[in-house]
Amino acid sequence: MIRSHTFVLVTLLGAAPLGAQSISPSTPEIDAQYPELKTLYEDIHRNPELGFQEVQTAAKLAARLKALGFDVTTGVGRTGIVALLKNGTGPTVMLRTELDALPVAEKTGAPFASIVTVKNLAGATVPVMHACGHDLHMTAWTGTAKWMVDHRQQWHGTLMLVGQPAEENGGGANGGAVAMLKDGLFERFPKPDFVIGIHDDDTMPAGTIGFHPGPFRAMSISPTITLFGRGGHGAMPYNTIDPIVMAARTVMALQTVVSRENNPMDPVVLTIGSIHGGTQANVIPDEVRLELNVRTYTDAVQTRVMAAITRIAKAEAAAAGATREPLITMPQSGHVVVNDPALTRRVAAALQKAMGASQAIEMPAKMTSEDFSEYGRAGIPAVLLHIGAVDPAKLAESRRTGIPVPAPHSPEWLPDLEPTLKAAIRGETVVLLNLFNGN
Ligand SMILES: [Zn+2]
Ligand SMILES: [Zn+2]
Repeated sequence: MIRSHTFVLVTLLGAAPLGAQSISPSTPEIDAQYPELKTLYEDIHRNPELGFQEVQTAAKLAARLKALGFDVTTGVGRTGIVALLKNGTGPTVMLRTELDALPVAEKTGAPFASIVTVKNLAGATVPVMHACGHDLHMTAWTGTAKWMVDHRQQWHGTLMLVGQPAEENGGGANGGAVAMLKDGLFERFPKPDFVIGIHDDDTMPAGTIGFHPGPFRAMSISPTITLFGRGGHGAMPYNTIDPIVMAARTVMALQTVVSRENNPMDPVVLTIGSIHGGTQANVIPDEVRLELNVRTYTDAVQTRVMAAITRIAKAEAAAAGATREPLITMPQSGHVVVNDPALTRRVAAALQKAMGASQAIEMPAKMTSEDFSEYGRAGIPAVLLHIGAVDPAKLAESRRTGIPVPAPHSPEWLPDLEPTLKAAIRGETVVLLNLFNGN
């Protein structure tokens, strides 16, 4: 009711004066676009694709942007999209969405839930779901594109829409941002003056935009440890070197890296997300494999934590009498998302002016990671905003009971679509108009 009342008011007033509490001038058009965008969102949600496999997703978005008059290039960084709209003299502003989904079996119960399974890049059959809300980001990006085309007389410059593949493949060399940059994103196409992105969030009510100047999302690295024992009969452990017990001790000892070796002023998360060994109860296996995930905010802390992991794994193997040292692999690390402080403040001020101070709030940094980091590392002022996507009543209930609401990567993550999508488009258009027009 409140929303329709606001709609009528804005329509009657026409161009509402831009005051501290004024609505973005884009509100009525976004409302008009909503039914079509909802259909697009449900289609993308129902048909998710994993990183570097986003062929159908990219084709759907490319077709829409071409129809809107964008100059569209597909296949950038394997499955990425670059869409350009040149609209006179002015800055080039890049708005990025991700294209990929996750290997998660959906449990939202939504009528448009995914039942898709695919072969991943390793050849295993896995379920697929848009469990990180990238479907919402793509839909908002499409809605913003239409609004910017429809109102091209209100801005000048080049709008660069980037659909990035494989955000979930991990940071560094494995991710889609690096794939696009290596494929000439900022050489074959105009190098933008600003890069912006928006991500849905489980900690704020639907439609509230969160900003955080400076380091905002952690760096992530996922080492593996293979512990080697000597297998044998479950009834004769004295004739074996049991890698299961070795692994159990290692898992517990690794907990002390954060609790006993790290200065609590330095954020660190060390998670062992996978442990595999053995085939059945009465056989002691030869080896056990652990997969770790380490999140930090600085190279120095990451280096120290990695050294501790190596030291503990080797020492536990030695303590168990293993005749072979553990095999420890250290893949390339992702990087910290650093929101350019000046750009973040500028964007935040524009959002608060257009949407109200309570709708654009400063939020804490997170231990989650994003390869959006790579655009800032390429030397361009960049800001990743977050947008609350949770029904306010459910969030209030969660705060009362202490039971967390589903978050991104959960099989139950489903944004509260209408208020989140509309506010995402409103936020994107407000930011773009500010950056193009310099006010
Ligand atoms: Zn994610
Ligand atoms: Zn994500």
